[in-house]
Formats: sequence, C-alpha cells, structure tokens
Amino acid sequence: MPDNLLPVLTDIVLTPWGLAVLGLCVGSFLNVVIHRMPLMLERQWQADARAMLELPEASAEQPALTLYKPASRCPKCGHQIRWFENIPLISWLVLRGKCSACVTAISVRYPLVELATATLFAACSWRFGAQPTTLLWCGFVAVLVAAALIDWDTTLLPDDLTLPLMWAGLVVAGLGWNLPLKDALWGAVAGYLALWSVYWLFKLTTGKEGMGYGDFKLLAALGAWLGWPMILPIVLGSSVIGAVVGIGMKVTGQLREGVYVPYGPFLAGAGLVVTMAGSQRVLQWLGWA
Ligand SMILES: [Zn+2]
Repeated sequence: MPDNLLPVLTDIVLTPWGLAVLGLCVGSFLNVVIHRMPLMLERQWQADARAMLELPEASAEQPALTLYKPASRCPKCGHQIRWFENIPLISWLVLRGKCSACVTAISVRYPLVELATATLFAACSWRFGAQPTTLLWCGFVAVLVAAALIDWDTTLLPDDLTLPLMWAGLVVAGLGWNLPLKDALWGAVAGYLALWSVYWLFKLTTGKEGMGYGDFKLLAALGAWLGWPMILPIVLGSSVIGAVVGIGMKVTGQLREGVYVPYGPFLAGAGLVVTMAGSQRVLQWLGWA
C-alpha cells in the first residue's frame, strides 16, 4: 500500500462519520441479502431435493436470482429502481417512502436497516478507534444484522452466514488481530456446546425443540470473535432481551399460540451489546471482575 493511502484511509473512512456513510451503503446491500438469501436457499434446497429423489428438474425456467441479479424492482408494479432512487436513506426520504411509478408504500424497514448499520459502524469506530482492524468489526456487525433479520423473518439462520463468521473470527484471532487464539477457539467450542446442551436437555425433558442448530452456530461465531468468557454473559443477555421482546409482543397481541419466536436475533443483539461495551465492562456489570 502506498505510504500516503493509509493516512487518508484512517483520517476519512475510519472516522465515525466516514464509517457511518459506509454503513449506509452496506446496510442497503444487507436489505438485498435479507430479502434474497432465504429465497436463493429455498430454490437450492428444492433443486437438491429433486436431484436426490431423481425427479426431473423443475420445468418452469425461473429467472436467475443472485445477490446481484436481477436489479431491484418495485414488487407491486415491476418498476426498475434507478440508481438515484437507490441512494441509502436519502432516496426513501425524497420519495417519501413510496414507489415513484405506482405510489405503493416502501417499507420503513429498508431505511431503518441502513440507519442501524450506519450507527453500528460509527459505534465500531468509537469503540475500536481509527485503525484498519475496525473494518473487520464492521464486517462482523454487518453479518450479525443480516443473520438476525433473516432469522426474524423466516426462522432460518443460514449456515452461509454463521459458519464463515465463525471461521473469520478464528482466523482474525490466529493472525493476532483480536483475541488470543485460545480464547477464540474455546469461545467457538463453548458457544456451540452451551446451546447444544440446553437444546438436548430441553428436548429430552419436554419433547419439544426450543431452538435450532443455527443458534448453536451463531453463538459459536460470537464466541470466536468475543472469547469464551463472554459466552455466559451473551446467553444471559439474550434471555433478558428475549423476555423483554416476548412480553412486549404479548402485550401488543403479536405473540400468538404456536408461533415460533426465533432466538437468533436476541443472541445477535446480546453479541452487539458485548461488542460495544467490551468484555471488561460486561464482567464488571455482572460483578465478576
Ligand atoms: Zn411500483
């Protein structure tokens, strides 16, 4: 890297404002991931199932669906979103949350995801300072946002997000950019086993499934990034967040009998709190340090 590029990078991009702008753009991409990844996975599974059962391939030729293709369209009228209608946050505000062609409302969730990602990226800058490894943490929180919202929408936690996140945490530790490798490794192991044991204890005593394997993998990933001492605080924190949200949903009548509330968003939320607070402060809150 040329000598003069690094200072420019740290002075502009890695400041809270610089990362907030980057976060708006990444958040815009996350909206696409959150919407399309479950659809892409479902198609893949159906194709795999057909191949396994030796059925002919699905006859109707579906148009290709990837994270990049086709370009975004209005789901109602098919109006292709032009580049100036796709500027994070600003376009939604200028269009007042409506499609420019058919005036169908565009969900407020899109700008909120962009805003949340921007806020988390800025928080990474405050927390980790203006240094290149802060970008790794931005990647970490971006994957957590996508995983949490996909799980919330579909009760799926894709392996395509949780497993690379776990490996990335171990590699980052191995390169000496974060925790000691030992802490990250045992974090991943403890994260997986902690929820795996709860799952089987719950299943053997009640016959019900309280969570899914995706939750084990997500906590393993959090352990790889935040270290084994943070596993118990994350489990406690996610239970508190889950209880608060559950009570809120009950009060507002959104929690109905037999509706499965995913656990992944609460794990991700607790992971984000621990990330921003730092393990030292978390242990102090709990009176363990
Ligand atoms: Zn439209």
